[in-house]
Amino acid sequence: MVRLKTVFSQIKYFLQDLPNLVKFVFFMPDKWDVAPLNPMTKTDTIIVGAGPYGLSLAAHLSHHGISHRIFGEPMDTWRNHMPKGMLLKSDGFASNLSSPNDAYTLGQFCAENKIPYHDTMIPVDLKTFTSYGLAFQKKMVPQLENCQVTEVHPGPNGYKVTLDTGETLMARRVVLAIGITHYPFMPPSLRNMPESIVTHSSKSSDPQHMKGKDVTIIGSGASSIDLGVLLHENGSKTRIITRKAGLRFHEAPKAETSWWEKIRHPSSGIGPGLRSRLCTDFPHLFRLLPEKMRVDIVRRHLGPAAGWPMKARTAGVEVIPYSQVEFASENNGRAVLVLRNKNGNRQEIETDHVICATGYRPDMNRLTFLAPAIREKIATEEGSSALSANFESSVPGLYFLGLSAAVTFGPTMRFVYGADYSVKHLVKHLKATQEKGYSQESVGSRVQQDGLRESLQRIS
Ligand SMILES: Cc1cc2nc3c(=O)[nH]c(=O)nc-3n(C[C@H](O)[C@H](O)[C@H](O)COP(=O)(O)OP(=O)(O)OC[C@H]3O[C@@H](n4cnc5c(N)ncnc54)[C@H](O)[C@@H]3O)c2cc1C
Repeated sequence: MVRLKTVFSQIKYFLQDLPNLVKFVFFMPDKWDVAPLNPMTKTDTIIVGAGPYGLSLAAHLSHHGISHRIFGEPMDTWRNHMPKGMLLKSDGFASNLSSPNDAYTLGQFCAENKIPYHDTMIPVDLKTFTSYGLAFQKKMVPQLENCQVTEVHPGPNGYKVTLDTGETLMARRVVLAIGITHYPFMPPSLRNMPESIVTHSSKSSDPQHMKGKDVTIIGSGASSIDLGVLLHENGSKTRIITRKAGLRFHEAPKAETSWWEKIRHPSSGIGPGLRSRLCTDFPHLFRLLPEKMRVDIVRRHLGPAAGWPMKARTAGVEVIPYSQVEFASENNGRAVLVLRNKNGNRQEIETDHVICATGYRPDMNRLTFLAPAIREKIATEEGSSALSANFESSVPGLYFLGLSAAVTFGPTMRFVYGADYSVKHLVKHLKATQEKGYSQESVGSRVQQDGLRESLQRIS
């Protein structure tokens, strides 16, 4: 009797899984373990990078059924290269990753997790934004493969892409959503100093790692001020060296604004102001401006300034204004900086560690994972790739998003806010130019494969 019951339950399991098995045997034999078994899989579009831009693009491509694969560590820049405790400069409403029909906004994430949220009046903290990005990835981009693209070579009808897993695959097009990671900029006077005493701000994600030390920060932008405050609050003695008169901060948002103020200083996703609003709303018009003007606007618009909540917290941070580093050397494991101020006077300071909060500058030569045959053909404007109206570089099938696209499409591309505009535009183009013969295998089939594996295990 017991044996009969067991046989019946096995038959029941078998019947439950029969549709999956039929699908597997007749329709998907070549897709079992696609990645490991077939070293030359073909994909329409590959996305390099899983920050806000890469994740947004993947969410839209899935929605439109465009075959793609996306590679990168999710939200790496935000998790590993920004100081813990930092507040975002951008407002809540301007910090959404882009998804079809606004399927998953920061506001929704905060409501789900009972985190206080307001479009403008509550600053977004780094932890909340990073958690939102990771939740977005799990929900909207489960197909993400957490690995690095190590090489991109020209291939037949597109590109040959190699991953750090050893897999090589072919793709018709490659979108570089690589953000800021390859472009940290250090002033020439500090570039050759040992890393033990001089680093770029992208390496200071833990404000406690300099506890008890004397730290000098170069630059007066948000990164510099945030780091100065956070390091000071975590037990370092901090000073900021700036070429400007002092530190600048954005104005705190007002609960009520008059109609005149709304016209003079309209709200925008990169801060209030008519210029900012023109930049966010008309990136394609921006592209038509002469190159020199675009480069100038991207460099100067918004200028160095920290978010308004930081203003009240800078009291313990020393500021040396109107000065820049002329020369740097090492003395017994400490850095010696020779400063020159605007009157030509020199000052020498000795410090345990120097942090260059001197920003990021696109430079195609730094993208060493691109084969020289590709890099050499990328036409550039001020180090960035010159882009077509479809975000395509001068190398057909190679696209750029984010900071690399700022010289073409304006300062909005330096912010998360620019993801929605650029991704929607790029997806339209990728959809219109996709070729038949590439199936959207990545998400669906992997999920089915996992289901099948489970079914087979249960039956056997
Ligand atoms: C201190 C600081 C504060 C900032 N504050 C704000 C703010 O408040 N609001 C705002 O909108 N913006 C802010 N920014 C700018 C912010 O970095 C960008 O808006 C945002 O990260 C752009 O997203 P992204 O996807 O283009 O780039 P990123 O977030 O940099 O993502 C790019 C990803 O590509 C990955 N990658 C690179 N090469 C490869 C490869 N070969 N293979 C696989 N993956 C690769 C990287 O690991 C990275 O995860 C800030 C920047 C800094 C430094």
